[in-house]
This record gives sequence, structure tokens and C-alpha cells, in this order.
Amino acid sequence: AISKRLKTIASYCPKGARVADIGSDHALLASYLLVEDIASFVIAGELNEGPYQAALKQIHTLQARDRASVRKGDGLTVVQPGEVDAVCIAGMGGQLIVSILEHGKERLQGVKRLILQPNVGEELVRRWFIENGWELVAESILEEDGILYEILVAERGETHAPYANKDRSMEELLRIGPFLWERKEPLLREKWGHEREKWQKVRTQLERSDKPQAQERIKQIESEIDWIDGVLTCLHMDK
Ligand code: SAM
Repeated sequence: AISKRLKTIASYCPKGARVADIGSDHALLASYLLVEDIASFVIAGELNEGPYQAALKQIHTLQARDRASVRKGDGLTVVQPGEVDAVCIAGMGGQLIVSILEHGKERLQGVKRLILQPNVGEELVRRWFIENGWELVAESILEEDGILYEILVAERGETHAPYANKDRSMEELLRIGPFLWERKEPLLREKWGHEREKWQKVRTQLERSDKPQAQERIKQIESEIDWIDGVLTCLHMDK
């Protein structure tokens, strides 16, 4: 069975869309999109030989394999302009996702929707949307096997609408996620609770250090922890 994470990603693929899944590994998402009749056509893109072979094998088992194309290559180079309506990139760091988008900009011609699931560095992805004419239209956060996942969905648009008229600055919302914040998602408490613990540990370590820069760093970390505390207080008040 497919994971809750991949199912949620699939739920953001428009019905009948032509979809490219970049970094598809075993092509589980691409298969699901075909079997459930969500996508009319899928491209499963893979950089590495092992996962590429696994994707070929997986797609070959499907009745709908004539509506799939498994391609080996780096990022969006496997997609021709105008070939797909939506692009999914999941299970990688935000930095790698942004670099794939950045290097493949001309391949995004005709793409109407991006569905991205960065494992870390969500802020980088939200920033890239703003700087490149994409508008965040939906966000999800979910927990599976004790791990938190965020899914960011964007469509073409120049406005900063999701960030406007909120009780937090745009800079803060780029970090937290404007839609997650609007809904005061209960899992945000978990996410920022973990972040707080992480910084607490770093602070404790630095307090034992006699490096001259340690004091300065401790101050920065304390202000970060204060900010997180503000976020957590708000999240608790609302529930
Ligand atoms: N997308 C799947 C998911 O979310 O379950 C698989 C995630 S897996 C952790 C990341 C996959 O991306 C690996 O199979 C890796 O080979 C592939 N990958 C990494 N960099 C890539 C790139 N630049 N272009 C295409 N695939 C890439």
C-alpha cells in the first residue's frame, strides 16, 4: 500500500493532468496516479541507475504502462516544455528541490502546478516561489511513522496574497507556512517543539565550550528560542 505521504501528494494532482514525478525512486507515486486514474500520463524521472531500473520494473507491471514514460536524467531535463501540467518533487531537501527548479525553469513552460514535499528547508522553497512567479495555493503537514512531512503546492501567480493581512510578518510566515499558520495546525506545535529542543541542545553544548565565539552564538540561539516560544504560545492559545 502507498504511504499517507504519497497519497496526500497525489490528492493535489489535478484529475486528468499529465504529471512528471522527478526523483521518482521506485515510481510508487507515478504508479498510484495511473492506477487510481488521477493522471492521464506520467513521467517518472530518475537520476540514478538503481532507482531508474526499479521504476522501469514497477511501471512494467501496470496495465496502464502505455500512459507512462520512465526517463533517466538530472531533474527537469527529462521533461520537454509543454509536456506536463503538473510536477511533483518529493522526499528531498528543500535546497535540492530549489536547485532542480532553478536549473529547469525553461522546462516548466506550460506547467500549471508544482507539488513539492521537501524533507527540510521548506522556507527555501516558499522563497523560490515568490522570487519566480509562483504563488503558494495550499499547504499540508502530516505525520507518518513518527516523522513530520510538509507538502507545498503552487500555481502561477505574482501576488503575495497568502502572506498578506496576517498577524505575522512575511519573513516569519515564510518559515512557518502561511496556510499552516492560518489553520493553527496542531502538528505545528510538534514541529516547532522539536526545533526548540534541537536549539536547546546546541545551547547546552555551547555553554560548555570555551571558544571565544560561543557567547555570541548563544545569544543568537537564545533569540531563536524566544521566537519559537512566541510561536508555540500562539499555537497553544488558539486550541
Ligand atoms: N520521490 C520519492 C518519494 O518521495 O518517496 C523518492 C524520494 S528518494 C529519497 C529521492 C530520489 O531522488 C532518489 O531515488 C534519487 O536517486 C533521486 N534524485 C536525487 N537527485 C535527483 C536529481 N537531480 N534528479 C532526479 N532524481 C534525483
